[in-house]
Amino acid sequence: MHRLLLRQLQRHLGKDFLPTEQWQAFFQVISAHYEEIDRERTLLENALVVNSQELTEANSHLRVQSEQEHALLRSVIDSIPDLLFFKTPEGAYLGCNRAFEKYIGLPESAIIGKTDFDFLDTALADTLQKTDQQMLALRQPSLSEEWVTYPDHSRVCLEMLRTPYASMNGKLLGLIGIGRDITERKRLEDEMRVATMVYQHSDEGMLVTDANNHIIAINPSCSKITGYSFDEVVGKDPKIFNSGRQDKNFFQEMWLALDTTGYWHGEIWDRRKNGEIYAKRLTINTLYTDAKSVHGYVALFSDITEQKQSEELIWKQANFDTLTGLPNRRMFRDRLEQELKKEHRAGLSLALLLIDLDNFKEINDTLGHHVGDELLVEAARRISTCARESDTVARLGGDEFTIVLPHLVNSSHVERVAWEVITKLSEPFYLGSEVAYLSASIGVTLYPADATEVEQLLKNADQAMYVAKNQGRKCFSYFTQSLQESAQNRLRLLKDLHGALAAKQFKVYFQPIVDLTTGRIRKAEALLRWQHPERGMVGPIEFIPLAEETGLIMEIGDWVFRESALWVKRWIELCPDGFQVSVNTSPVQFREEGNVYVQAWLNHLSRLELAGQSMVIEITEGLLLNADSRVTYKLLKFRDAGVQVAIDDFGTGYSSLSYLKKFDIDYLKIDQSFVRNLATDPNDMALSEAIIVMAHKLGLKVIAEGVETEQQRNLLAQAGCDFGQGYLFAKPMPPEEFEAMLQRDLVVPS
Ligand code: C2E
Ligand code: CA
Ligand code: CA
Repeated sequence: MHRLLLRQLQRHLGKDFLPTEQWQAFFQVISAHYEEIDRERTLLENALVVNSQELTEANSHLRVQSEQEHALLRSVIDSIPDLLFFKTPEGAYLGCNRAFEKYIGLPESAIIGKTDFDFLDTALADTLQKTDQQMLALRQPSLSEEWVTYPDHSRVCLEMLRTPYASMNGKLLGLIGIGRDITERKRLEDEMRVATMVYQHSDEGMLVTDANNHIIAINPSCSKITGYSFDEVVGKDPKIFNSGRQDKNFFQEMWLALDTTGYWHGEIWDRRKNGEIYAKRLTINTLYTDAKSVHGYVALFSDITEQKQSEELIWKQANFDTLTGLPNRRMFRDRLEQELKKEHRAGLSLALLLIDLDNFKEINDTLGHHVGDELLVEAARRISTCARESDTVARLGGDEFTIVLPHLVNSSHVERVAWEVITKLSEPFYLGSEVAYLSASIGVTLYPADATEVEQLLKNADQAMYVAKNQGRKCFSYFTQSLQESAQNRLRLLKDLHGALAAKQFKVYFQPIVDLTTGRIRKAEALLRWQHPERGMVGPIEFIPLAEETGLIMEIGDWVFRESALWVKRWIELCPDGFQVSVNTSPVQFREEGNVYVQAWLNHLSRLELAGQSMVIEITEGLLLNADSRVTYKLLKFRDAGVQVAIDDFGTGYSSLSYLKKFDIDYLKIDQSFVRNLATDPNDMALSEAIIVMAHKLGLKVIAEGVETEQQRNLLAQAGCDFGQGYLFAKPMPPEEFEAMLQRDLVVPS
């Protein structure tokens, strides 16, 4: 019986409870004892018959031995931390160990013979009894978990093993119970269960990687957000989610944080499996091993795209006008402040245009708000088309708009924009079945000339806008008086310029160009003059820019060319060694699409039976620098026809040599500014000499402009300059005078 008990004890405690050798030793000791006891019992039983006296002695000897064995067994079972008890099949306790005594709160002596009903409440005792009975009926060990309360009121969970024990001949003797405290294990299991629940059901995406940052686990939300299933991402680097919106630096900083603090938190744009880019808020924690090396990473994230979008919407609503989509007053002020700072740093100016729609209120009242809204949207669109990318167009409210023109070089740009706005807004508005006509008044103020603060600039522009309104609307006004006057002046000039050609108010003057070695007139430059009926002679410096802005330069330039060709025709017949007239052209003429004028000019020359060589086209350096196909095509056309090309004002622009050869240029005209200081500034002398040498090397001839003194002419001649032009020889003059001069020159013997 003891052996059976021991085996069951061993089975429950597990082989690992004691090392195998110890179990064996333990068995051997116990077995030896029992064998001894059995042997002795047999002997004694035999002797009993013989000698009852001996029997008594033997019995007492046996008792001593039995007590020793009992003590050994006792100490073994008492040192087991699990609860251990044995009961009769009826439930009366036969014995227990110390741990069980502690649980019941009574010594073994007080437990033996009692049942659970003596210590526990009836309900519990009842259940325990049933469990015992079931197990005994099946004669099979059973395992159950029971929550019990100790006398000190602590509650623990016991894993109860009940097992029947029987005598050698199979008679059921009772049951053994072993209870193990599994409270801590239960707690961990619960924690695990909760963690798993959170992991599985959380709205947050979770992703776990190993130390090499390869994905080892993701939760359902991660799949939902990214669109990838576990199988698609396992073993991969989370890089697969990259949208490319963050640069290398971003990720470098993230890893730096993870390496140093083990933690990173931030917002990031990723890409879903379906290609969609989304925003997420991401937290990454590093997992460490006990040895403090990286074990892996846990990423928690949530999709915040909608939140971002609504933030953006809120930002848009706060900063943009919902009707027109233009920046609103608030955004406008922000931008203006920024621009003012930039201009301040760069030492540049800025213009603020305040645009007010003159008769919007009437339209709104008569056609209704709906039509009024449509009109504002269209007006906003038209205004925007007048601005460059870098300008700010805003709606300040009602029918008031503004344009900020930064990095201002000259005021003609402001005026061009203002007129464009006024012109575009005065075109009819087709709104459904209605047609509406608007006009606009614009007030202009300049930073820093008029004011340096936003508030003051706005006031100025407002004031100027009212001046414009009072002037009869459909116009603009500067805040500054002098600017206003010159703008008005230009405006009047512009108006007059439109009719000047038809009214035959233009005249071409000619200035001789002299061969510096012979002193003879070989060429002339055609210079345009405007005989204004009231103002008298207006110089090209004043009206050419206006003609360029309005496009009138096309017609005017055409007239100059044809007129000049007519005069060359006369003079070439006078000059046996040939004669050339050079005509100034504007870059605007070269940007003409199609080649109407160039072809017409060449036709004009052939009608006059003039060789191309009798004409020179003067262009500026800047034109070549920005030469596109329109420019190169025209230059080629001229070259093919023999018309020569001169670079005007050479040295003032970019002066790049490479294009001189590329575009087959014939003449360089050294700018007046160099010639002026030839005698006094050694640099200018050196530069002029260098230009001449370089030009000759490239096969170009050089014409010096603005030659006013003998000294300048001599220096230029010494430097090898081919031709000279300037007041020293003659001022520009009407063709009739020029012709007389040419004739005089022809009769002078060389
Ligand atoms: P530009 O082509 O450099 O013309 C030379 C300018 O220098 C002319 O001024 C001429 O009168 C002036 N000039 C000539 N010799 C001297 C001198 O010794 N001293 C000084 N101080 N000045 C001298 P102008 O006639 O007032 O023409 C000014 C500019 O207008 C021209 O400069 C040219 O760029 C432009 N221009 C003139 N006519 C036309 C034209 O028909 N079409 C185009 N697109 N531009 C023209
Ligand atoms: Ca010129
Ligand atoms: Ca020039």
